[in-house]
Amino acid sequence: MSAPAIWALALHGGAGPTREKSYAREEAHMAALLDRGAAMLAQGAPALDVVVALVSELEACGFHIAGRGSAPNAAGEWELDASLMDGATRKAGAVAALKGFESPISCARAVMEKTPHVLLVGAGAEAFCAAQSLTRIDDPHDYYTPAASRLVQPGELAHGTVGAVARDDAGRLAAATSTGGLLRKTQGRVGDAPLIGAGTWADGRCAVSCTGQGEFFIRANVAADVSARMAYARQSVHAAAAGALADMEALGGDGGLIAVDAEGNVALPFVSEGMKRAWATSSGAREVKTFR
Ligand code: ASP
Repeated sequence: MSAPAIWALALHGGAGPTREKSYAREEAHMAALLDRGAAMLAQGAPALDVVVALVSELEACGFHIAGRGSAPNAAGEWELDASLMDGATRKAGAVAALKGFESPISCARAVMEKTPHVLLVGAGAEAFCAAQSLTRIDDPHDYYTPAASRLVQPGELAHGTVGAVARDDAGRLAAATSTGGLLRKTQGRVGDAPLIGAGTWADGRCAVSCTGQGEFFIRANVAADVSARMAYARQSVHAAAAGALADMEALGGDGGLIAVDAEGNVALPFVSEGMKRAWATSSGAREVKTFR
């Protein structure tokens, strides 16, 4: 008989939730994705495949400010950001301010696998994705959800993102993050989500995906800081995640992150009002939650 699988998985749907709203629909969808990711990991799927599959679903569902749920920028255009990192190889791929493609995380994966580069932006990114036959959006006004247009009213969510981190049965770690970014953002604005080290990180110690006010996450280099604290200060993933987030908060930002370490420990700290999140491990732990 083979040894039981050891795996861990966490998802987030952004740190934008406010208490006036119900997130039952989002939580039910995340619970279903958790089951799907758990089944993949239990069957030995690589962590990278699992985080990409789950982030693609989070993009496609239109419930979060990423992929289909994204809102337009101040110029009325949809510019999306995404990145992923494979901890086993330290390979990474990203796209920023990408227009016209359904799944930015699939585009980021193609950058990682098909080019010697990490990050493609603008017209070059679009030409590359088209050459890779990645799925295009014909009419953004038709494709992006009415829920996203509702969100651009004053007083609604300020931001949102989706992400996934996993530790697979072979001990590999991976992280993926995708976002429509801040609502009403300036044309050309790029947040932390596509920046390796700021919004996404994975190595042999941990995999991290962040959500929140990206400018502060960039200035605190939050995702890579979790790993640095584990390496240099010998902190647990919980202490390192809390410390990296506190450093970001001290600059004046808010948000949260999900992180998993090489032993399958999961940390999901946030300093915002809520963070849509879900996690499960092979030892039976499982939770889907938005507020504390
Ligand atoms: N971090 C994202 C950005 O700044 C937004 C978010 O996570 O809600 O683009």
